[in-house]
Amino acid sequence: MRSVLAGILFCFLFPSLVWAGGELRGVRLSNNQGKTRVVLDLSQSAEPKLLTMRDPHRLVIDLPGFKMAPNTDVAGSLGLVKGVRAGYRSNGDLRVVLDLSSIASARDSRLGPSGDYGHRLVFDLSSSGNLTAMKTAKDVPGKGRDVVIAIDAGHGGKDPGATGRKGTREKDVVLAISRALAKRVDQQPGMKAVLTRDGDRYLNLRERMDKARKHGADLFISIHADAVSSSQPRGASVYVVSERGATSEAARLLAERENAADLVGGVTLANREDMVAYTLLDLSQDMSITRSMEVGEEVLQELGKMAKLHRSHVQQAGFMVLKSPDIPSILVETAFISNPSDESNLRSSDYQATLADSVLRGIVDFFNKTPPEGTLLAQNGPQRVRGSPVRHQEYVIARGDTLSEIASRYNVSLGHLRSANGLRNDSIRVGQVLRIPTG
Ligand SMILES: [Zn+2]
Repeated sequence: MRSVLAGILFCFLFPSLVWAGGELRGVRLSNNQGKTRVVLDLSQSAEPKLLTMRDPHRLVIDLPGFKMAPNTDVAGSLGLVKGVRAGYRSNGDLRVVLDLSSIASARDSRLGPSGDYGHRLVFDLSSSGNLTAMKTAKDVPGKGRDVVIAIDAGHGGKDPGATGRKGTREKDVVLAISRALAKRVDQQPGMKAVLTRDGDRYLNLRERMDKARKHGADLFISIHADAVSSSQPRGASVYVVSERGATSEAARLLAERENAADLVGGVTLANREDMVAYTLLDLSQDMSITRSMEVGEEVLQELGKMAKLHRSHVQQAGFMVLKSPDIPSILVETAFISNPSDESNLRSSDYQATLADSVLRGIVDFFNKTPPEGTLLAQNGPQRVRGSPVRHQEYVIARGDTLSEIASRYNVSLGHLRSANGLRNDSIRVGQVLRIPTG
C-alpha cells in the first residue's frame, strides 16, 4: 500500500521522469504567402490521427501516447488558424484542435531532429487551390442556410454507362432520375439541389466531387443503374465507399466497373499521388462513412417500399466518386438495366418519379434526424416531405413475381390491385405492365 502511494506521489511530482511516451513541447504558427504553417514540437516522432470537422471548421490532431510537457502553452492565432486548444480524450490520447477560419486543405509532414529543432509535426494549411471552396452555400450570418444536396447523374457524354437490351443507356435514365430528384429537393423547405451535370456531358470523377465541394454540399448522391451479364438480377442497391475492401465480391466488381468511367477520360485512378491534393481525404473518411451509412440506410428503406431491393443492406465498395472528405456520400444503383423489366421501369417517367420520391424521403428523413449546424433545418425543426404528388405507378412484371407480393410491396390490397388492372384471377405474365393504384 505504502509503495503504491509512493508511486502515485512520484508520478504526481515528477511526471516527466516516469512518462515513457512522447510529449508535446509547443505549438508554433507562421504565415507565408497566404499559407499558415502549424508546427507541433515533439519529444519523439508521433503517429498522429487526423480528423476534420465543419461548422465550425476544425482540424483535430490526436497524438496517441503523448502528453503535454509541463508549462506548455498551446494558445495562438494566426492566418487561417483562429485558435489552438489541447486536452485529453477519454482514452488518454492527447488531442490538439486547430480552430480554422475556413475549410482549408492541409498537408502534413513529419520532420526528424535537425539543428535546434527536435521531432516536429508540420501542417501547411492553405486556402488556395480547388479544395478550398468548401464554404457553405448561402452562408448568411443570422439566417440558416439550405441543406445542399449534390446529385450526380452517373456517366454522360462519351461514357454511356451500361446499356440495356432495348438499347436504354444508363447515362440517359440516370439523368432523368437525377433531374426529377433535384426538382423535388428544390421544392423541399430548407433544401437546395446541385446537379453535377444537367445534360449529356462527360465529367470525370474528380470534377464531380469538386462541383459538390464548391457548392458546400451536405450530401453527395450518385445515381446509377446496375448491369450484369445475366438478365436475372434486378432491384435497387445502395453503396457507400469503403477504404477497407468491399462488402462482397460483387460490390468489388461493381466498383471496378463504375470507376472505369474515368478511364474513358484517360485519367488513371491508381495514382495515389494525385490524391495527395485531397489531403483531408483519409482524415475525415471514417466520420463521413458513418454518416454515409446512416443516410444510405434511410434511402434504402424508402426504396424498399416501392421496389424490389437487390441488397437489403447498404453495401461498401471502393467507389472513387464517393471519396469526398467531409461530405457523406452514397451511390444508388436504382435498378438493373440488364434486367428486362427493370429496364422497362427505368424508361418510364412514372417510375423515375417514384424512384426520385423514395430517394427524397430517405434524404429528408436523414436530415430531419441530424440537421447540419447552421442550417434552416436545424433552426426550424423537422420538415415534411413535399412535392410528391399522388400519381398512378406502373410496374412491369418480372420472372418470379406474384400478384400478392406486388400488392404488399406497394401497400395496396390484392382486390384493389386486381380491379385496377381488370384481372379476374392472380395469374400474371413476365413483361405485363400493371397499373398500381395509389391513394
Ligand atoms: Zn453506373
